[in-house]
Amino acid sequence: MDLLLERGHRVIVLDNLVTGSVENIAHHAGKAAFRFIQQDVTEYLFLDEPVNYVWHFASPASPVDYLELPIQTLKVGSLGTHKALGLALHKGARFLLASTSEIYGDPLVHPQREDYWGNVNPIGPRGCYDEAKRFAEALTMAYRKEHGLQTRIVRIFNTYGPRMRLRDGRVVPSFIGQALAGRPLTVYGDGSQTRSFCYCSDLIEGIYRLMMSREWRPVNIGNPRELSVRQFAETIIRLTGSRSRIAFEPLPQDDPKQRQPDISRARRILHWEPKVDLEDGLRRTIEWFKSRTVRKRISGARAA
Ligand code: UDP
Repeated sequence: MDLLLERGHRVIVLDNLVTGSVENIAHHAGKAAFRFIQQDVTEYLFLDEPVNYVWHFASPASPVDYLELPIQTLKVGSLGTHKALGLALHKGARFLLASTSEIYGDPLVHPQREDYWGNVNPIGPRGCYDEAKRFAEALTMAYRKEHGLQTRIVRIFNTYGPRMRLRDGRVVPSFIGQALAGRPLTVYGDGSQTRSFCYCSDLIEGIYRLMMSREWRPVNIGNPRELSVRQFAETIIRLTGSRSRIAFEPLPQDDPKQRQPDISRARRILHWEPKVDLEDGLRRTIEWFKSRTVRKRISGARAA
């Protein structure tokens, strides 16, 4: 939303704050071009002003969150997407769905191209998120076909950066938090599973370009640099200068063994590719978490 305001758009944020935080938007409070409405997107959406673009990002996205909130996750992906599409239709707006690399499940094709249909376990623990997003893609396509709605679908791969919650549960904040506190880094399984991490500013630029493009087919946005979770833990230990060690814990069920986006479509159509190198992005993220921990300690001491 920072980027939208910078580029001259008016922004209305709808969020029920189940996993989000007002702290992340507090710096926009009072701006004429910005409005915040606390609402669950699965309820009827009423806006008394024109809308040109609907960006549908609502959903828990950390496995820890969606494992705890499976019904809400299914509802936001299905009913929430229905309401958001309905709003776009009513307003004559263009609609963008934030989909995910999770629709590829534990992929049997590597790296993942948009024409791969995926390998998802519908009744496994991740099914609530994966199937909700797959349904959301299908519903988006149905609105395009039946109503002629202008739609865009972005498949977001692992993303990281400032403003994530320390206790988010995803691997980047978990490892950084553990390393900064000198606690062991909890690597699940033997750490040979792979992920590819994209810095938030790169992701946001890619998504903006997609919305402004004419591409209605799904587009992967992510960073193709792939590394194992174990290598990732070692990188965090090195960059934080921590004395933490690695502690191996059981691998959660259905944890995808490998993940790397094929971004040829984004390169070709959006002329986009990530610019921020992993170590640079991680340094910025580590600095942000450090400054937050210091700020929290100071405000904690003041309150005491
Ligand atoms: N992971 C880990 N330790 C943690 C958190 C996650 O080893 O404390 C692993 C997890 O098993 C997965 C990878 O890191 O293989 C990425 O997990 P994350 O929850 O960030 O997202 P996912 O890509 O699985 O959706």
